[in-house]
Amino acid sequence: MRAVTFYNTLGRRLGPFEPLELGKVRFYTCGPTVYNHAHIGNLRTFLFEDLLRRGLRFLGYEVTQVMNVTDVDDKTIREAAAAGLSLDDYTAPYIDSFFEDLDTLHIERAEEYPRATHHIPEMIAMVESLVAKGYAYVADGSVFFRIAEDDDYGRLSGFDLAEVRQGERVASDEYDKEDVRDFVLWKGAKPEEPSWDSPWGPGRPGWHLECSAMSMRYLGETFDIHTGGVDNIFPHHENEIAQSESTTGKPFARYWLHAEHLIVDGEKMSKSAGNFYTLKELLAQGVEPRAMRYLLSSTHYRKKLNFTLEGLADASAALRRLDEMRFRLDHAREEAAEPSLVAATGEALERFTEAVADDLNVAGCLGTVFGFSKKVNVAIEAGELGPGDRERVHRLLARFDELLGVLDPAAWQPAETGEAGDDAAIDALVAERQQARESRDFVRADEIRDELAALGIAIEDTPQGPRWKRQ
Ligand SMILES: [Zn+2]
Repeated sequence: MRAVTFYNTLGRRLGPFEPLELGKVRFYTCGPTVYNHAHIGNLRTFLFEDLLRRGLRFLGYEVTQVMNVTDVDDKTIREAAAAGLSLDDYTAPYIDSFFEDLDTLHIERAEEYPRATHHIPEMIAMVESLVAKGYAYVADGSVFFRIAEDDDYGRLSGFDLAEVRQGERVASDEYDKEDVRDFVLWKGAKPEEPSWDSPWGPGRPGWHLECSAMSMRYLGETFDIHTGGVDNIFPHHENEIAQSESTTGKPFARYWLHAEHLIVDGEKMSKSAGNFYTLKELLAQGVEPRAMRYLLSSTHYRKKLNFTLEGLADASAALRRLDEMRFRLDHAREEAAEPSLVAATGEALERFTEAVADDLNVAGCLGTVFGFSKKVNVAIEAGELGPGDRERVHRLLARFDELLGVLDPAAWQPAETGEAGDDAAIDALVAERQQARESRDFVRADEIRDELAALGIAIEDTPQGPRWKRQ
């Protein structure tokens, strides 16, 4: 198995990745808080995690990924109350919306999507253990983590506790705490709030606790990778480490990978700046999901991704160039005596694989795809395709697409125009039209042309015969 390098936020360095169990990776991903539709910044992170799971599998690892669904926290409670709905009724459509967005972007499903409200007993057990060990205390029906007990607090984020003076407020909170730096594990319920019974009275879990309890429930006390957005590093992930390691006395996640922010037109995305997008809004404006996936993949996950509509148009154009190469390949003859793309396919696969193993360098992978595509075009133009070359190229593109998930146009045809994905069907229609023309049945020929146009296929009549392409 090839050596893999990742940048571990814990320790802030690039280094070799070695899973606990040879050939197997267990990783946890902070999932959506389902109080609203996901915005494209959330989706950038989810897509990074999709590329990570696909990349690890591409390199031969078996992957178990768990992504939580936060269906109880301050925001879901506040919005459900404002809408006059129960928590479940309020979050249900946003859970559906989240899965729809994953499907739209061809993000593979994780192995498990645990919901916070389905794991309250595990969370209570963890808090009980922390109280028993002296890492947590009860105040006013709530339970807090006692940060002064945790010697290495701050090692993920570099947050220096000594710099936070007593009395300074790091987070606004109306509860009674021994120390302002302490964070809440269990929140006592206020009147009218949804709550669960606990040894400390009715209440609900704090957000940080949810991820600790669910990750360890599904992946064990120590697992390989924990991911999220950079905005999760502090305090969320720092607090997850503090609670989990204080509970078990063992290391929690061994590698921490974080996706950088998505910005829009060079600015922070925000509703007040008017540059805030959900995927559904973009789809309503006619944005192609495939171009969206390409664009969100094309910047290295540790760099800020600048989303612009021009960038999206460029992504579409880049995909067209690759489709065009595929089209030409399918219509070219293998007329040379010897194959000419054996070495090129081997080199491209090697370079692509190296990029995957180099801290998931998807931008590098895309560079290899375009370099290779150029070689294929040159070979076609020179009439150098030989026995097996077409199949060889198709096999390599399919292998690349195990990671990228954007190269096969047929996989992205909407279900209702499924036929358009079927090249053979298009070829047959084009041939039928040609026959109609030859027998001077222009009405039928035009009907077929219109039919194809409705599927997004344009026909061009050339001296060599008709050619078609997707628009
Ligand atoms: Zn989390």
